[in-house]
Amino acid sequence: AKRQGRNGYCFFNQSLQQQATRTAYLTQHLKNAISNNEFELYVQPMVSPLSGKIIKAEVLLRWRHDGQFISPDEFIPIAEQTNLIVPIGEWVRSTALNYAVELHKLDFAVPLSINVSPLEFWSSELQQRFIDFFDAKLEDINMLAQFSPLITLEITESLMMKQQNDIHGLLKSLQDKGLKIAIDDFGTGYSSLAYLVNFPADQIKIDKSFIQKLSDDDKHQALVTAIINLSLSLGLQVVVEGIETRTELDFINQFDVMAAQGYYFYKPMAFTEFTELLKKQ
Ligand code: C2E
Ligand code: CA
Ligand code: CA
Ligand code: CA
Repeated sequence: AKRQGRNGYCFFNQSLQQQATRTAYLTQHLKNAISNNEFELYVQPMVSPLSGKIIKAEVLLRWRHDGQFISPDEFIPIAEQTNLIVPIGEWVRSTALNYAVELHKLDFAVPLSINVSPLEFWSSELQQRFIDFFDAKLEDINMLAQFSPLITLEITESLMMKQQNDIHGLLKSLQDKGLKIAIDDFGTGYSSLAYLVNFPADQIKIDKSFIQKLSDDDKHQALVTAIINLSLSLGLQVVVEGIETRTELDFINQFDVMAAQGYYFYKPMAFTEFTELLKKQ
């Protein structure tokens, strides 16, 4: 049975057999999604939590196939399993850098955050490809020094990253180019606190699952307080996602949070809508 999910995506409630058929179907069509122009890169503003002013934005991939949006939570894992994540990731970064150029032309200094899958650097060949891509693209727009600080790479912590220490070298060389690194979804995977100490990062993003549980009980508030305070004392900038209510906003405003993101402020939107919004601000 098919139903519209909360974000307007279609979710499927089905048997393993149906699931396998669905995965095969998506895999087949994902291969042609770039050439068929089925991707669009949406933008979700991040605001200063005290003033509500837009200070940054995250780009989020949208796949419209056969008139329907398929959730990245469904197709990104498939892209990761099939290595399609490599060309898809490059399409995302290339499009995001074009947005950065566009914003610059409009005189908006709004840094963009780009999601990157750790599977994009599982081998040294891919790591080299990743670096070369940025060098080529930033050289192309001839503004390496100007644009790199405007780009943050959001990298999900995962078991794989924990095991693979040489990813630190890659991230450090990206930081040397001026790019910012954010740890995405911290606390939802396999990370330990030690991992946070050693990881070459500038920012941490508190996952929306923690924010959604804030109202459950005091223990969840204690947990979020501890994560934010630890991050701040390690010198990391803190970004909180999934803010949906005034109460959640008031809670995080007790701390020195750099940016907040969530439906309370703005939902992800098309790039043209985003620039219109900036013009009004
Ligand atoms: P994420 O990086 O944790 O992104 C945040 C997700 O939360 C987005 O879902 C966003 O639309 C949603 N969101 C934002 N504010 C709120 C809120 O207030 N309430 C709720 N309930 N949700 C909110 P989206 O766009 O469906 O993306 C899902 C995940 O797919 C992302 O999670 C990210 O892990 C992945 N993803 C999206 N775009 C890309 C991409 O270009 N590359 C890669 N590798 N992964 C991507
Ligand atoms: Ca993210
Ligand atoms: Ca994520
Ligand atoms: Ca998240």
